[in-house]
Amino acid sequence: MEHFHMIIDGKNTGGELPVLEVTNPADASVIATVPYAGGKEARQAIDAASHAFSAWAGLSAWERSDRLRKWFELIEENKEDLARTMTLEQGKPLKEARGEMNYANGFISWYAEEAKRVYGEQIPATQQNKRLFVSKQPVGVTAVITPWNFPAAMITRKVAPALAAGCTVVIKPAEQTPLTALKVTALAKKAGIPDGVINVVTGDAEAIGEAWLADDRVRKLTFTGSTEVGRLLMKGSADTVKKISLELGGHAPVIVMDDADLEKAVAGVLASKFRNAGQTCVCSNRVYVHESIVDSFTEKLTNEVKKLKVGRGLEEGIDLGPLIDDSAVAKVEKHVSDALKKGAVADYHGSRLDGLFHEPVVLSNVDDSMLCMNEETFGPVVPITTFKSEEEAVRRANDSIYGLAAYVFTENLSTGIRISEQMEYGIVGLNDGLPSTPQAPFGGFKQSGLGREGGHHGIEEYLETKYISVGL
Ligand code: ADP
Repeated sequence: MEHFHMIIDGKNTGGELPVLEVTNPADASVIATVPYAGGKEARQAIDAASHAFSAWAGLSAWERSDRLRKWFELIEENKEDLARTMTLEQGKPLKEARGEMNYANGFISWYAEEAKRVYGEQIPATQQNKRLFVSKQPVGVTAVITPWNFPAAMITRKVAPALAAGCTVVIKPAEQTPLTALKVTALAKKAGIPDGVINVVTGDAEAIGEAWLADDRVRKLTFTGSTEVGRLLMKGSADTVKKISLELGGHAPVIVMDDADLEKAVAGVLASKFRNAGQTCVCSNRVYVHESIVDSFTEKLTNEVKKLKVGRGLEEGIDLGPLIDDSAVAKVEKHVSDALKKGAVADYHGSRLDGLFHEPVVLSNVDDSMLCMNEETFGPVVPITTFKSEEEAVRRANDSIYGLAAYVFTENLSTGIRISEQMEYGIVGLNDGLPSTPQAPFGGFKQSGLGREGGHHGIEEYLETKYISVGL
């Protein structure tokens, strides 16, 4: 079994520390160990990142872009190994892990280019003897805390824009999936990204988080994970007034209008619902279908859902891997039994299989009192409810503390745009079940988070605005 090291100041470190076992959720076998570090190592990582900051920020944007491009190329060369590592530690089907590697690397190639487009401004002055300039500077040392559901993409979506802007980073990957993170970041050193620019610490989340929150040298915190931990980190950032970006929970509604193309709507729900076995924050979580088409929609969807194959992610033809842990499976079972108890009908009731596998479930006759309509299920369950009017669909879809992604299906362009504009969500897929892409802004309204990742918007999160007023 392989023992991985952490990367601090470009060196493999943590060999002397106790270890954290990384398991394969497909069979609970231990596949590797990583160091179980705490506050001391977290502070060493800040030392390294602070030390490396001025030289990295001092490179020209073109030089930083060049290193990012080399990192991208090395990841391309190692994509298959990285995808397999990801499937082993996270469980997702290999085809999805390959897809994630493309998506993850897309952020590095995009921000290698965006590094060159961090523009300043000149503002017309009121007096002739003044010149007003605005320039952008990197925020500084950035703490990156990521979840297990996208072990590579959640790292690159944050680290690529941070590095492009001139920031240095300290990263804590999720305890379930540190291997992909360590492998991806090890390639950065080979790409010529200097020691200390990227540091990775594995271990005690709370102790590492506390050390980073307390340290004034960490000027920015970027987090993806649960709303609960997000709130905690937001509070913890207050003492040192850090800049923060948060990508938190979602509870994505899907609205299927009576004029929707049902093939498109079914394909969209399948794509958004079952990716990563339902364990993404943009997974559709509740489906509102116009009452006039609900029977044919449900039948078509159920026919497709029945074809989905559940199994070990490394095997051919698998659509859904295992869920991440026991509590994830328990939540799925709880949401399903709660809905059935309150009157929902199971159009397809897949079972819990041995280990952490759960087959898909399609529920209709669902109402707003059920847990699945109020909380993120994070599993392969599709609850279907009906609506009579557009106004009702929009109101119920918006009735949530979350506001990350929403989906709308209609063949009428005016209806589609009208509903999209009313959605209190940061991302709307209009006849599109997979809207995420590196060049577009990803992020939520309301309690789904703060800030945006991706696109030209994403780099702004790592930049300070400096105004220089010149008297001539
Ligand atoms: P999930 O429910 O998806 O596991 P979490 O919000 O618990 O989401 O975890 C997301 C990331 O936040 C992980 O890397 C986890 O280790 C980290 N994390 C959890 N609790 C804390 C904490 N108190 N301080 C800092 N990081 C934390």
